Amino acid sequence: MKQRLVVIGAGMASGRVLEHLTDAAPDAFDITLFNAEPRGNYNRIMLSPVLSGEKTYEEIVTHDDAWYAERGIACRFGEKVAKIDCEMKVVEGEHGHRPYDKLVIATGSNPFIIPLPGHDLDGVIAYRDLEDTQQMMDMGPDNKVVVIGGGLLGLEAAAGMAAHGVDVTVVHIMGHLMERQLDEAAGYLLKKSLEDKGINICLQANSKEILGQDGKVRALLLDDGTELPCDLLVMAVGIRPNTALAQEAGLATGRGIHVDDQMLTSDPDIYAVGECVEHNGEVFGLVAPLYDQAKVAAHALLDKEAAFEQKTLSTKLKVTGCDLFSAGDFADGPGREDIVFRDPSRGVYKRLVIEQDRLIGAVMYGDTADSGWFFGLIKDGTSIEDMRETLIFGPAYQGGDTADPLSAVAALPPEAEICGCNGICKGDIVEAIHSGAGDLGAVRASTKASASCGTCSGLVEQVLQVTLGDAFQMPAAQPICGCTDLTHEDVRRLIKGQELKSQAAVWQELGWNTPNGCHVCRPAINYYLLADWPLDYQDDPQSRFVNERKHANIQKDGTFSVVPRMWGGITTPEELRAIADAADKYDVPTVKVTGGQRIDLLGVKGEDLPAIWSDLNRAGLVSGHAYSKGLRTVKTCVGTDHCRFGTQDSTGLGIKLEKILWGSWTPHKLKLAVSGCPRNCAEATCKDIGVVCVDSGYQISIGGAAGMDVKETELLCQVQTEGEAIEVVMAVTQAYREGGKYLDRLYKWLGKVGMDWVKAQVVDDLENRTALVARFELSQSIYRKDPWAEHVKEKAQTYAPIADFTLEAAE
Ligand SMILES: Cc1cc2nc3c(=O)[nH]c(=O)nc-3n(C[C@H](O)[C@H](O)[C@H](O)COP(=O)(O)OP(=O)(O)OC[C@H]3O[C@@H](n4cnc5c(N)ncnc54)[C@H](O)[C@@H]3O)c2cc1C
Ligand code: SF4
Repeated sequence: MKQRLVVIGAGMASGRVLEHLTDAAPDAFDITLFNAEPRGNYNRIMLSPVLSGEKTYEEIVTHDDAWYAERGIACRFGEKVAKIDCEMKVVEGEHGHRPYDKLVIATGSNPFIIPLPGHDLDGVIAYRDLEDTQQMMDMGPDNKVVVIGGGLLGLEAAAGMAAHGVDVTVVHIMGHLMERQLDEAAGYLLKKSLEDKGINICLQANSKEILGQDGKVRALLLDDGTELPCDLLVMAVGIRPNTALAQEAGLATGRGIHVDDQMLTSDPDIYAVGECVEHNGEVFGLVAPLYDQAKVAAHALLDKEAAFEQKTLSTKLKVTGCDLFSAGDFADGPGREDIVFRDPSRGVYKRLVIEQDRLIGAVMYGDTADSGWFFGLIKDGTSIEDMRETLIFGPAYQGGDTADPLSAVAALPPEAEICGCNGICKGDIVEAIHSGAGDLGAVRASTKASASCGTCSGLVEQVLQVTLGDAFQMPAAQPICGCTDLTHEDVRRLIKGQELKSQAAVWQELGWNTPNGCHVCRPAINYYLLADWPLDYQDDPQSRFVNERKHANIQKDGTFSVVPRMWGGITTPEELRAIADAADKYDVPTVKVTGGQRIDLLGVKGEDLPAIWSDLNRAGLVSGHAYSKGLRTVKTCVGTDHCRFGTQDSTGLGIKLEKILWGSWTPHKLKLAVSGCPRNCAEATCKDIGVVCVDSGYQISIGGAAGMDVKETELLCQVQTEGEAIEVVMAVTQAYREGGKYLDRLYKWLGKVGMDWVKAQVVDDLENRTALVARFELSQSIYRKDPWAEHVKEKAQTYAPIADFTLEAAE
């Protein structure tokens, strides 16, 4: 007699089990197939092409009525199994019992619905089956849809609806799309191409509430107060293995139904396959491993030997025009190295991650033609030692001599494109060189090669070198670091020219040869971006040196120094008492008066920082930014208030300037001073910007220093009113912020641009001065704030030690 086999769930995994089983032993089982969906097996992963209109539902059905009939499978579609009785070996369907000898559970997963207020409103759906797909297909150009989730599924849903002209917004909580499969650079390119398709993307967006009207969804409210109106809200935020039946039946479950290598559950007659299972601690969300499981389960049911093994997986997105691939492990880690190739003009990015001469991960965007080959290298663990230098170019480049960049350039034909942005070929450049262009600037001027994104500058120079030989001297300009050939100046120009507003945009569009920069370039790029795009770019604390991350100067014994701001060097008995109390309370070993007219609490423990800041904040004291590449102090003398020589209110002006400039980030530290007369007690003429008050007004001089280099300031101008003095100081500061190379003090910047240029910008051209002041104010609308207060509120726990060993030892 045939054994009775019951299968719960007609999904992608069980479909394969049935195929293997009925092909190998058509008469072995009397099969009953339950499915909660009112249909049989179809190719669920092709729901996205159905949504976008590229396919019909009929085209994605994998097993039709005739298929089941031929194999004698009793189909109970649209009938959910409510219970499994393992003792009696019976399943309870909604329309009756069915006994079994063997049982296969293939119930897949449930989409996760974030329990936001309003999640149960009409029009809030997941993306899992044909019904969900149909609701999305009912949307048209007059509808707005919000998709929560920028992973594979959410983006396919968004692109499918956008193809019908629906106004779609994707809301994603992370900093880049598909963060589990893609690194930041590929995520950036993906975002760009989805935006080109008309899809709105909101990153780092936190959903707060789903708003409704008459029981139907109306909008999504984000926690920053933004309301995104919508007629349909799709949640594509992950899945949970559907284990309910198995759990109730008493089978062993964890995140999924526990199975062994034969897909057998804790019951010897019950197998489980698909997304509902957990094997060796892993759960599954892609079909490739499920198909392997199906084969193993079919073998096991027929008493044949087979074992399921987990393998490396790869991902591709099925959205037309978004060519992306990711496989293996691409996280940064010790002992791992990256090979990166970027072609900004074609929007191509490829990154290979290598560990111990083996390729362990790959991420590609824009050109995935060689992805199969790379995937093979990852899966097979092939040694890439001999092809390391040409590996990134794919299989076609293997087996030859390792490439010498100059001979490769020499071998390029005249029609080879060198400058992708301007379509300039090698032949055009060689012709320009023969006509007298002897350096990069001249070639750029006569051909436009490298004049746009600039990333081919190195290549143009190589053409110059192979054409002119020894007659060409490679320019001495220093690149920022080993991640790029571009100089600081190039990068600043290109960030503005190409409107690059994120680190990922810089890495990709400027052809960085590392995935995310390094400790040298990241702080510089972070500064350039926040200085140029204060409203669009969010400061990245991870791209800062430790002092700026901790908002305090780290000392040689690992403790910190805390310097509250004293506006213009003026303080009060209350402030002094608060400082003394803090010194007592936190056992501060040293209290010192600084050269910048304030008080330094030296030797504060890292974990005490938020508490001491909080105490000082309560007395009205804020961070003195004694650690930052930004405004430090404005030193003042007592001026007309107390000194018989004083010509103006130097203290008042110093306080005003400090209140205007505090919190601003600059290429390097910025120190100011205001003296009330030419006796210059505030030493204004050795500061970055110094003001010396005179009877007829204010002399403003810039470019001083009293550190490793000692410099006297140079006179910029004399103005009559305090208001003008303030404007000039703001304008100079902004000009330095916009043009200075990161870590150049103001005097170094001045040496490069020249005093005449600065005078022209901020003294002679009043319109330009006003514009500089306006840009400074705009930036200060974001940055004029106390980081201590913010950290006390939001990040205090990050300063706490990881474990309290004292307590543990005491107990
Ligand atoms: C839109 C979309 C696109 C995708 N794209 C890709 C892709 O490109 N690549 C990829 O690898 N993967 C993709 N996936 C994932 C892939 O579809 C799943 O991994 C796969 O379908 C899981 O198969 P399964 O058999 O475990 O579960 P399912 O296919 O979900 O089947 C489970 C079935 O069990 C039924 N069921 C559940 N409980 C009961 C019960 N109590 N009684 C009766 N029946 C029940 C359900 O109704 C369902 O029909 C995509 C998924 C979706 C939704
Ligand atoms: S700089 Fe002039 S005004 Fe100021 S304290 Fe010295 S002498 Fe007095």
